[in-house]
Amino acid sequence: MVTTHNLGFPRIGAKRELKFALESYWKGQSSRDELKSHAAQLRRRHWQNQQALDLAPVGDFAFYDQVLDMSFTLGNLPERVQGFHGDVLDNYFRVARGRSAETGDDHSACCGGVAAGEMTKWFDTNYHYIVPEFTAATEFKLDASRLIEQLGEARAAGVKAKPVIIGPVTYLWLGKAKDDSDRLALLPRLLSVYTHLLDTLGAQGVEWVQIDEPVLVTELDASWQSALISAYETLKLRKVKLLLATYFGQLQNNLELAASLPVDGLHIDAINARDEVTKAAALLPANRVLSVGAINGRNIWKTDLNAALEWLEPLAKQLGDRLWLAPSCSLLHVPVDLDSEQKLDAEIQSWLAFALQKLVELNVLATALNKGRDAVAPALAANAAAIHSRRTSPRVNNPEVKAALAKIDAALGRRVSAYAARATKQSALLNLPAFPTTTIGSFPQTPDIRHARSQFKSGALDEAGYKAAMRKEIEHSVREQEKLGLDVLVHGEAERNDMVEYFGEQLDGYAFSQFGWVQSYGSRCVKPPILFGDISRPNAMTVEWITYAQSLTNKPMKGMLTGPVTILNWSFVRDDQPRSVSCYQLALAIRNEVLDLEKAGVRVIQIDEAALREGLPLRRAQWNDYLTWAVESFRITANGVADETQIHTHMCYSEFNDIIASIADMDADVITIETSRSDMELLDAFDNFRYPNEIGPGVYDIHSPNIPSQDHIVDLMKKAAERIPAERLWVNPDCGLKTRQWGEVIPALTNMVSAAKTLRSQV
Ligand code: GLN
Ligand code: ZN
Repeated sequence: MVTTHNLGFPRIGAKRELKFALESYWKGQSSRDELKSHAAQLRRRHWQNQQALDLAPVGDFAFYDQVLDMSFTLGNLPERVQGFHGDVLDNYFRVARGRSAETGDDHSACCGGVAAGEMTKWFDTNYHYIVPEFTAATEFKLDASRLIEQLGEARAAGVKAKPVIIGPVTYLWLGKAKDDSDRLALLPRLLSVYTHLLDTLGAQGVEWVQIDEPVLVTELDASWQSALISAYETLKLRKVKLLLATYFGQLQNNLELAASLPVDGLHIDAINARDEVTKAAALLPANRVLSVGAINGRNIWKTDLNAALEWLEPLAKQLGDRLWLAPSCSLLHVPVDLDSEQKLDAEIQSWLAFALQKLVELNVLATALNKGRDAVAPALAANAAAIHSRRTSPRVNNPEVKAALAKIDAALGRRVSAYAARATKQSALLNLPAFPTTTIGSFPQTPDIRHARSQFKSGALDEAGYKAAMRKEIEHSVREQEKLGLDVLVHGEAERNDMVEYFGEQLDGYAFSQFGWVQSYGSRCVKPPILFGDISRPNAMTVEWITYAQSLTNKPMKGMLTGPVTILNWSFVRDDQPRSVSCYQLALAIRNEVLDLEKAGVRVIQIDEAALREGLPLRRAQWNDYLTWAVESFRITANGVADETQIHTHMCYSEFNDIIASIADMDADVITIETSRSDMELLDAFDNFRYPNEIGPGVYDIHSPNIPSQDHIVDLMKKAAERIPAERLWVNPDCGLKTRQWGEVIPALTNMVSAAKTLRSQV
């Protein structure tokens, strides 16, 4: 018999209940007890949802983040929050959010104001975890109360509980040594706490523990590999059985290592590493369980169940009871319930599966393996029909798009002339001063703007009324920019809800869910649009707004677009073609928009690639492949314009050293980047030889309400001028200003413009 289990369930709730409970608590509108009871309710509901499984995860719920939970379980709190007098949940939120909980915390006077823990991306997902902090002196101390409490709840809810913990090696790997000491030196100390933890769970009658070691899908050097060996040699004598879970990729040269570790079972992500399943089955000793992640935990598509059975059936014969079945990874990365959707097109909806639907699929697969396909014939037939409908739907397949894609050649992504020649023509036409000033695109999204949009969406405001309201906003931002004396203006993006959704809504091949929320960090969720078909652009998307804005001023108006790589990386994408193909399709669609803007007389066009770096694969060996098609997609989008048209791009991060050649290859005339927090040091990556075009290093941090002083900006720009020739420098903020208020924006930009004037007279 095949055993079914799940690696983790989305904790945010089908209607984002956890988000609202957390935010209400943080605002002081509900008590800690209310928050805790909300959470317990959600956990109970989620176990009920997983009742059909043989084993359900416990400990996958977190108030903020599962890595932070693990830090508390291991007693690894940053020194700055130790000795907190208040409730431990409040201290947990202090690490997560960098302050004491606004209320519900009586100790803000004695223990207030701490820096938040650093947050970073969880492997190659869009989930962010709180980075564990270490020093050479870090001591660990077990606090198993969270797991024990939830274990009790799970049992009361009637599920067979399988506690889930992050493995010791992955835990160290995810963290940072604040004193640059060797994290691995902490392993022996850490293992004694893990031993204690496993014994504690064993004493509670736990049979299986899922121990996550996703580091195994990354490139590991010998010291990390031997850490894994010594860790599991130490943990093997415990009474509980260990299921070692890997996910998000292939094990490759870690496969033999993973199969040889002395644990009781190994989980493999069969979506990313199908080939390794057979290899692992051959490598594993005869008494070990092989858990196969056969359902994609990272996307929203139905699984082709009949196709999956084709390769699972022989495996089930070979392994018998030793075969376990699960999603590829925790379902944290998908929305909860497709059945909540009221507005999705019925045909598209029939192709999708969210977390709950994925669990049903799992059950169908297991039943087919245990009792034969006949036992689930209707479900398999319905699944086959849905898969067939998606594969053959004219809404997915657009022959014109495929034909255009086939015609892509190197010339499509190449500018007519090299940068130096273009720069001369552009400066003759644009006539900009030295140190030209600009902004990144958005101006404050005021309550008025949001109100107008929601009225429009609900039908209370008609299209003409909405457009008039947005035009008023655009005019306002243009007038303000003129008063400020900025050199290249923007229209302010008032009409955009979101930089990806705005374009997705206007492209064919995209669908939008109402409740398809996925946790990004803490209470923050994103609702990625669903790229389901070949992408085309039925109509111009931005030309009307930009030409209206241009009509208001004699200054150059910058057309504002989101680039193909960013749209791709922030969407749920197709699993029936490579990401690169979807990206090229987006590139062709946005290219048409670029050309239409140019035709309409727009002389400066910015194509944002905020998420280009985010798409880098987990393994460096695959970076080159990704960067090749990502950069080519950008080039196709941008480079069809005449020499005189100036292309800008924007990236809101600051690590470029390892990908600078690719960034230079994009060949934008101007790139604006985030630098203000790094004191311009990161410009070292952009020295003369490696980055030959123009650069606008962000001179102030738009995430902070602080107003930068003119002197500070002059200072930063002088530092920049030590690294980049002054004639290639622009002056601009770090990123868009949509989250700020006009009252902050005006003084900040006033100082920025004065700083540019000072620089013109001094440098
Ligand atoms: N043009 C966008 C804006 O100004 C860019 C946002 C981003 O890079 N995240 O808001
Ligand atoms: Zn940005």
